[in-house]
Amino acid sequence: ETPQAATESTPLSSEVHALLSELGVPASAYTHGDLLARSPITGETLAHLPQISSVEATVAIGLAHAAAKEWRNVPAPRRGELIRILGEELRFALPALGRLVTIESGKLLSEGFGEVQEMVDICTFAAGLSRQLAGLTLPSERANHRMMETWHPLGVVGIISAFNFPVAVWSWNAALALVCGNSVVWKPSEKTPLTALATQAIFERAAAKFTVATGHTIPEGLSTLLIGGAPIGELLVDSPLIPLISATGSTRMGRAVGPKLAARFAKSILELGGNNAAIVAPSADLDLTLRAVAFSAMGTAGQRCTTLRRLIVHESVYDTLIPQLKRVYSSVVIGDPRTPGTLVGPLIDEAAFTAMQQALVAAKEDGAIITGGERVEITNQPEAFYVRPALVEIATQTNTVKHETFAPILYVLKYRDLDEAIALQNDVPQGLSSSIFTLNVREAELFLSARGSDCGIANVNIGTSGAEIGGAFGGEKETGGGRESGSDAWKQYMRRATNTINFGTDLPLAQGVSFYI
Ligand code: NAD
Repeated sequence: ETPQAATESTPLSSEVHALLSELGVPASAYTHGDLLARSPITGETLAHLPQISSVEATVAIGLAHAAAKEWRNVPAPRRGELIRILGEELRFALPALGRLVTIESGKLLSEGFGEVQEMVDICTFAAGLSRQLAGLTLPSERANHRMMETWHPLGVVGIISAFNFPVAVWSWNAALALVCGNSVVWKPSEKTPLTALATQAIFERAAAKFTVATGHTIPEGLSTLLIGGAPIGELLVDSPLIPLISATGSTRMGRAVGPKLAARFAKSILELGGNNAAIVAPSADLDLTLRAVAFSAMGTAGQRCTTLRRLIVHESVYDTLIPQLKRVYSSVVIGDPRTPGTLVGPLIDEAAFTAMQQALVAAKEDGAIITGGERVEITNQPEAFYVRPALVEIATQTNTVKHETFAPILYVLKYRDLDEAIALQNDVPQGLSSSIFTLNVREAELFLSARGSDCGIANVNIGTSGAEIGGAFGGEKETGGGRESGSDAWKQYMRRATNTINFGTDLPLAQGVSFYI
């Protein structure tokens, strides 16, 4: 490829280069190449990166395959030691990596730091898990027999991630996959390659420390980063050497990836789009509801998969809550996410802005009343896209409402009885996160029951976003069905063998079958 001219030096690009250097990324990794890394804060180009060719990617997958064969022989608690050290390195790197996350993805500084904290947390979780990859022992129907389950690594785990959680998603997958005895190959979003480079440098530092501490060398290719666009993701999806792909992104991407994996009988963890709703019942604590709705709907500029996109409000509290919400929407501080006091940062790019405006035009045609939604000029940077979050009062759940627009639009609907509200909440193709605000235990329990929310996440008196790593994370329907992070999500990164052991001298057959020779 042709090396490109060096990036123009600006205060932001200089800061980014300093952060990358502090995090251990060599300048050669981002000073030439045809992939532009940019910051949504100013829209400026920060760096140029080389993209991996498909030939190089194929070689890397081969190395990862060989690495998995070695790594599976390392005892799981020792594999956990690598992840414990990775967690320590991440804790140390948190200020710099968190700031880089903010600069590259545009989320608030506290959220950038929070994202790295989440990486630390999953490492802590996974290190403990490395001593608990437990299979069951089961009674056999045959005398002098025992049955048990053993869990074995799969091999190479492919990770495809989205721009909005540029590094945490890697860690949710990699920490579990590695303690489970797999190798990992990661294709990050092409919109956030710099945080990926930094994460890979941190992993390599942890691997070197692990070798010093334990005397075990880490096989080459245990964790590999492949910088590139969708075609590199497709190459992972098509590779017969990768038995599991964990893909996070839009439902459009999942629709392309899912059938290909099914056709080759590969496993998949799909973490796709959400269209999350909250129901506000008559008894809701409205002060708490207001704060929860504001964070869930406007936080991260509406660019979380769990962002609150639909608010279903009981008619008896509608006229109290909605005017308060409108005041919050019109006064919320929009601007540079690094500045203290800012609550809404930029959209990731112009395409996100255009999609938002198109959704608002469509909602207006559907008869909606819209507050906000306009572009906010802050920096005189034509390439940066800041918007005022939009509150859209709408009478019915039209196709526009049922579609995930990855921007801060909150559709507000009115309801009379809870069954109607639950039906509205469930009547969208996506099934990620949901909430109810109520002080009525019957309503709360109904919402959490089989007749209630059909989502992978259902909350009471907190918003739809901001999950902890201890629970299994993911959603139903077009959200893809995958679960990541806590609980028993680890089982997806392993294969189960059922073992029957005969410690007697007879050979009784199950179900009383007789076969004498
Ligand atoms: P995207 O679908 O555009 O891209 C996601 C990743 O998929 C990128 O790395 C991209 O290069 C890759 N990709 C795209 N097409 C591909 C293909 N055909 N084959 C293989 N790889 C392909 O998503 P985005 O804009 O980066 O992220 C926003 C979306 O992600 C939203 O829909 C959001 O809800 C979703 N998301 C979901 C979760 C979750 O856990 N459910 C978490 C974060 C984001």
